[in-house]
Amino acid sequence: MFATLSDRLTATFKNLRGKGRLSEADVAATVREIRTALLEADVALPVVKQFTEAVRERALGAEVSGALNPAQQVVKIVNDELVAVLGGQTRRIQYAKNPPTVIMLAGLQGAGKTTLAGKLALSLRSEGHTPLLVAADLQRPNAVTQLQVVGERAGVPVFAPEKGNQGSDPDATGLGDPVKVSRDGVAEAAARQHDVVIIDTAGRLGIDTVLMQQAADIRTAVQPDEVLFVIDAMIGQDAVNTAHAFLEGVDFTGVVLTKLDGDARGGAALSVATVTGRPIMFASTGEKLEDFEVFHPDRMASRILDMGDVMTLIEQAEKAFDADQAQKMARKFVDEEEFTFDDFLAQMQAVKQMGSLKKMLGMMPGMAQMKEQLDNIDEREFDRVEAMVQSMTPYERQHPKVINGSRRARIARGSGRSVSDVNELLTRLTEAQKMMKQMRRGMGGVPGMGNMP
Ligand code: GDP
Repeated sequence: MFATLSDRLTATFKNLRGKGRLSEADVAATVREIRTALLEADVALPVVKQFTEAVRERALGAEVSGALNPAQQVVKIVNDELVAVLGGQTRRIQYAKNPPTVIMLAGLQGAGKTTLAGKLALSLRSEGHTPLLVAADLQRPNAVTQLQVVGERAGVPVFAPEKGNQGSDPDATGLGDPVKVSRDGVAEAAARQHDVVIIDTAGRLGIDTVLMQQAADIRTAVQPDEVLFVIDAMIGQDAVNTAHAFLEGVDFTGVVLTKLDGDARGGAALSVATVTGRPIMFASTGEKLEDFEVFHPDRMASRILDMGDVMTLIEQAEKAFDADQAQKMARKFVDEEEFTFDDFLAQMQAVKQMGSLKKMLGMMPGMAQMKEQLDNIDEREFDRVEAMVQSMTPYERQHPKVINGSRRARIARGSGRSVSDVNELLTRLTEAQKMMKQMRRGMGGVPGMGNMP
């Protein structure tokens, strides 16, 4: 996500390090580099102009602050401006006073609407809502079935027209009128007490007046509380035109960026909110239903500037760790208890539950600089380490110091690893113990400084 932009910006800031004050020439050079970075990331020109102008003005006018050196001030300014460009505050779904809340999805074909419908449904369900999915994409032959599959995976019911029932207005799939299906879907939701309805509409490969009209008609018919414009972050410079067309043709209340996992540049993300004046509300970061996040402009800016996204990391950890485990870990910090292999195992299992290691490490400060190492991460390493820890006796796990040569050989045999693998694991535990001690003394890593243990 945003790898190029992130690399360029952090390199720019590095040049400013160690400077006591910023001359006009320093500011001009920095602004030029930021401009190139944004353009290379496919950010739309008007947005680039607005952005660099704001940074320049503020950097020149920056008062000498006791707390921040000039380089840090520039980082702060760029961070603030990025947050603003990305839409400022986090925008949540606004629920209707009288349920059901109707959420309509619109966007080009292939943008990821159907997938997103499932992700949103799953996420709402996990928050205690009772969503109903409505299949109003009657254009693409498989769209209804696809939504049914997605709904099943998310554990959310799908309202779909039955083949041949709608008669009078046959289209490509013979399933009838999407406006009627949407209206019936909302009525069904009201009757069955679903508190949210998500309507998946048809998309075409390009902007197309018939498609726009159909989406606008659905909008008029069901009066949605939210219309989410779903856009593929990889479409680059086309993002702005497409967004404008949907803004005029259908109008929308929020944006969902999809395929952020695949996009190294991410210019769409940085352009769409600004040029449409509509907030980015969600991000889709993969093909699995769980690859879905509420979009937080501040956290995204932090990620871009390689200051890490520790908040998201913590939230995911909270989901994966149970309260008991978390408390136990907390005690390790406070009471200076020794960190053992049992803790190591518990942590590893929790991390595995949190999802891909690569994705998580990517959210830590300074990690964007270590892209190559991240790419080289072998997720199976977890299983290997787990096998070694599980080959230890409970006593050994609690008292790793007793693991002598013959015990090491036994553990290696038991787990199918070599003695040097076991040695390495023991070294890693010692390092983890040291790190815990350092963190207790408040010497944790400084964001962006790349000194993550
Ligand atoms: P629709 O035509 O707008 O309904 O788009 P689909 O939901 O059918 O998605 C089109 C393709 O993009 C499918 O192959 C999805 O699996 C894929 N896709 C959707 N969202 C994401 C995402 O966030 N990341 C990646 N990598 N693929 C996605």
